Amino acid sequence: MRNCVRTGVIIFILAVFSFAQANNLDTLKLDALKKEALEKVEARQQLVQQMVDQIFSYAELGFQEVETSKYVTGILEKNGFKVERGVAGIPTAWVATYGSGKPVIGFITDIDCIPRASQKPGVAYHDPIIDGAPGHGEGHNSGMAVNVTAALVLKELMEGHKIPGTLKVFPGVAEELLGTKACLIRAGVFKDVDAVLGVHVADEFATGYGQTFAPQGLVSVQYFFHGKAAHAAGAPWDGRSALDAVELMDTGWNFRREHLRLQQRSHYVIINGGDQPNVVPSEAGVWYYFREMDYPHILESYKLGDTMAQAASMMTGTTFTKKLVGSAWPPHFNKVIAEVQQKNIEAVGMPKWDTADQTLAKALQKELGKKEDGLKEKVEGLKPPSPDTEQGGSDDVGDISWVVPMVYLRYPANIPHTPGHSWADGVAMATPLAHKGSAAGAKVQALTALDLMLSPETLRNAWAYFKDVQTKDMKYTPLIAPDDQPAIDMNKEKMEKFRPEMRKYYYDSSKYKTYLEQLGIQYPTVKK
Ligand SMILES: [Zn+2]
Repeated sequence: MRNCVRTGVIIFILAVFSFAQANNLDTLKLDALKKEALEKVEARQQLVQQMVDQIFSYAELGFQEVETSKYVTGILEKNGFKVERGVAGIPTAWVATYGSGKPVIGFITDIDCIPRASQKPGVAYHDPIIDGAPGHGEGHNSGMAVNVTAALVLKELMEGHKIPGTLKVFPGVAEELLGTKACLIRAGVFKDVDAVLGVHVADEFATGYGQTFAPQGLVSVQYFFHGKAAHAAGAPWDGRSALDAVELMDTGWNFRREHLRLQQRSHYVIINGGDQPNVVPSEAGVWYYFREMDYPHILESYKLGDTMAQAASMMTGTTFTKKLVGSAWPPHFNKVIAEVQQKNIEAVGMPKWDTADQTLAKALQKELGKKEDGLKEKVEGLKPPSPDTEQGGSDDVGDISWVVPMVYLRYPANIPHTPGHSWADGVAMATPLAHKGSAAGAKVQALTALDLMLSPETLRNAWAYFKDVQTKDMKYTPLIAPDDQPAIDMNKEKMEKFRPEMRKYYYDSSKYKTYLEQLGIQYPTVKK
């Protein structure tokens, strides 16, 4: 009897030992793979630089990212990814796939730019390449350099080490219009995806979980009023002004604003105010963003907007139609993956900025009248959910975060204290500063993907958080109606107006080492 017990104990100890050894081997394997991944990203520094610069030079507005999509999918295809184009009825959207089977890891990042944000890179004051033209005044040009580089490195590792799984690379088309993610979800492109690793340009190296930053979701709605034309002096009584309706809707909304929750943000632009004063405007339009903290409140704001439009049309004897052109759920990021990602951010660390990078940053901060503290040197700690309602902004990746565990890496490729959505945010975006920050981002993407691919437990825990915590009391319902279509014609005219001139400035990497070199810009160029 005693012998039996002793044998049992020995077998148990051996079993524990071999289990620990196997675990240890897995860790060793993962560590070796991570080291290899870092080396492989380093070896692709030139690809990172070329992608950042190339997409910067294309500077395409939402839904018109034709050259960008052609360029990025070309690189992916050349490297063995299978590309499906025009997904979800969006001409510039695509899915690039490599590998097969589980796990399926998705990568997403935005590709569109900002109206009127044209700016010479490396110049620390407003100096457009083309006056009035679109430009990467947010830095979306760097995201694909991050994700594609990581995906190519992972593909090589999967091939070399027989790692099973699938990589999927997605573009964030028309993010500035919050225009496509809900449509991509509706088209089912995330159905089999186990986790999504998103990236967004920032002035910091950080990740977060829960509802952390850019806390608001929104609907983006255009209201079109229809009246009756008449001679504005000869027979005004025969006319019904659609512009009056727009102005009354705006006035109504602005009075009501005082009595809305502090968490809301709303803004509008008049997209059509009529043609000329002596013609009573028969057509006019106004475009609203209604932002709120969660789905029920977004719907409430949206309904109130409809009420204002209805009332304005009754007051003016006009009618109205509306079009939902964008929507976003407030993002909620996955705690389990964020914790894993945080370790990778700390392992990679901030890029090594040099004097030129810091000089550019401080000169721009001075130009903007902001604190001249240059670039950040330390990585941020893991950001817990923050109830801070002073922050604003939306991102339609939010929708994705409600259908699959997702994190959003913020990689340091831009300068602190810029206003966002402006020429100033383009200054760094085709310079060594952005190149270094994007390479650092690619490293973290590759490392985090390896964590997920080699540790089924991490993925299981991520899904447990998604099911038992995040979506326990809140389920995803799209803000788009089943018949709302992506607004793929938006920005067409604006882009067509500028494209011929912009073409002359497209980056030619066969002739120039960098875009700065092509433009003949000294780095950095600062005011004396
Ligand atoms: Zn963005």
